[in-house]
Amino acid sequence: MKMKHLAPQKLILGLFVLLVGCTQSLDKKESQKPNFSKENLNTTVNAGDDFFRYVNGKWLDNNPIPDDKSRFGWFDLLLEDNRKKLKALFKDATEGSNEPGSVAQKIGDFYNAGMDTLSIEEEGLKKLEPVFKQIDAIESADDIPYTIGFLHSYQLNPLFYFYVTADKKNSSMNIAGIYQGGLGLPDRDYYLDTDDASLEIKNAYSTYLNTIFTLMGEDSISAKNISQQLLDFETKLANAYYTRIQNRDPHLTYNKIKCSNLPSAYKGFNWDKYFEGLSIQIPDEININQTSYLTEVGNLVQSESPDIWKKYLKALTVRSLSSYLAADYVNAKFELYGKAIQGKSAMEPRWKRVQGTTSNALGEAVGQLFVEKYFPAEAKERMEVLVENLRVGFAQRIDRLEWMSDETKLAAKDKLKAIGVKVGYPNKWRDYRSLQVGPDSYVGNVLASNRFDFKYEMSKIEKPVDKEEWHMFPQTVNAYYNPTGNEIVFPAAILQPPFFYLNGDDAVNYGAIGVVIGHEMTHGFDDQGSQYDKEGNLANWWTSEDSTNFANRTQVLVEQFNQFQIKDTIYANGELTLGENIADLGGLNIAFAAYMEAIKDKGEIANIDGLSKEERFLISYANLWAENIREKEKLRMTKVDVHSLAEFRVNGPLPNMDLYYTTFAVTPESKMYIAPENRADIW
Ligand SMILES: [Zn+2]
Repeated sequence: MKMKHLAPQKLILGLFVLLVGCTQSLDKKESQKPNFSKENLNTTVNAGDDFFRYVNGKWLDNNPIPDDKSRFGWFDLLLEDNRKKLKALFKDATEGSNEPGSVAQKIGDFYNAGMDTLSIEEEGLKKLEPVFKQIDAIESADDIPYTIGFLHSYQLNPLFYFYVTADKKNSSMNIAGIYQGGLGLPDRDYYLDTDDASLEIKNAYSTYLNTIFTLMGEDSISAKNISQQLLDFETKLANAYYTRIQNRDPHLTYNKIKCSNLPSAYKGFNWDKYFEGLSIQIPDEININQTSYLTEVGNLVQSESPDIWKKYLKALTVRSLSSYLAADYVNAKFELYGKAIQGKSAMEPRWKRVQGTTSNALGEAVGQLFVEKYFPAEAKERMEVLVENLRVGFAQRIDRLEWMSDETKLAAKDKLKAIGVKVGYPNKWRDYRSLQVGPDSYVGNVLASNRFDFKYEMSKIEKPVDKEEWHMFPQTVNAYYNPTGNEIVFPAAILQPPFFYLNGDDAVNYGAIGVVIGHEMTHGFDDQGSQYDKEGNLANWWTSEDSTNFANRTQVLVEQFNQFQIKDTIYANGELTLGENIADLGGLNIAFAAYMEAIKDKGEIANIDGLSKEERFLISYANLWAENIREKEKLRMTKVDVHSLAEFRVNGPLPNMDLYYTTFAVTPESKMYIAPENRADIW
């Protein structure tokens, strides 16, 4: 689940990509204390051969993937737990009668309209008619940009995203941006690759387009023609798309331009009409993330027939909204995205899907209720202490680096000191008063919410960045680093087991939430984050020799991860996942240093469950990533996700740590062994 008002190009770096839903439950009481007794370990596997399965083997056997999931791990269990909490919070709002305009009324109506499948079937595509009318009004190339702008203002996103974010070179100010978008399949590679798995998915997409155009009244021959035309059209967009690796380059994607120069720089696209369609004032400046892609957009507006454009825009509108439409549309979407792409065999229960949409649309209002009921103040206090200890641990690690000059070390520690910390929930909450939600139309409410969020985002253009703002909801199980704010953020929902034990053993907490904190801090110093200074500006603070050393050291990690086999000839992408892999390894090293610092005056630390403190630290970390995953989902994630697969988040970083070798007696004969001279040593 992605936050709706955040286009994917916003700079925050989450701990992982969010999942939605599961069907198994978590017993809260049992989960409050970690139990790492030796009986839970899978001793049929050697800790030196496969640490992920040594720790998680039994868990993996006992937790098969439910039919409606593409993967299943600890995060899913936490999400399920969250859903029960939200269900309890929603209960009053959905069952009682509420004061009109109140948050309870909005939550109640949003949810109830989503559950009212009879009305949804009856309504059909009626709420989409104003959008279709706008699309049908296209007669020439000159009409297209207005319609694109109109769709963007409802967060339907053909061709590209129009969004607002901090200016990477003037990080205290917001700037508008344009980022490539508008493909039906999850990435350009799906259109361009010719392996069997990609072809199968392309076929499924073609079937999907066929289905929705048939549902909209086309006969079978013309529906088939349209789907072929649209695949050809989107392949042209895909060809112009930047790769995910290119998009990780903050300099390549920084191209600020005066809006008055857009017509001469990006021809073939009527920019005045586009802004008219957006119904905003033309900003002074804008950042174009992918310049050659935008040039191609102008070419296509001129060269493709208005008829193709109408089909593309209608397909995109229906695809973006199909989760909120009649069952035929919901099912068609599931066949493509759920089954063909992710390998699921069943859809999640409706109430979970509707709860997710409601919780997104009214995110901070729901978050406020969530923290009032479920977030203990002590958790925030304990976290703040942990974060400061991690900061000390990180500073020690910087001091000991042999490859870095004193000059760069000083700058690094300066940046570390400046990292801002947010824990639990925002200090001020968003105001939803002007959002109109009614009991009659689910898709109508979604469109109203999209429009509301869009206006809210647009109101920030060329205004100072609001430092108090959060880019995740408190009820979200995740954490992030924001490079332009130089800040780390931990929503309330991640501060629970197995990430965080309010009264747990230190070794276990440092191995879990400690590493998460260290991970987020390290993002400020990974291959991307290290290019931003302590104020969050894209500005170099490294000597050139240190920069070269750093690049060489991170390259070791790229090559290590490139060796992980996914299937047949498909391997993990060490370059795409580099930032996350640096953060995982750094997080582990820093958290262990912080743990050592925290216990330095505590004398001998006793074994628990027969396990030493070092064992508990590493097992606690590996336990976070316990997860079963379907093969299709593995292939998808390998293409699109900047995070490594769960298994490699354990078996990737560990063999670069001395601690792993000494704690588990790993020898040169062990499968995970890496010779000392080949280990990655970065932070
Ligand atoms: Zn991360």
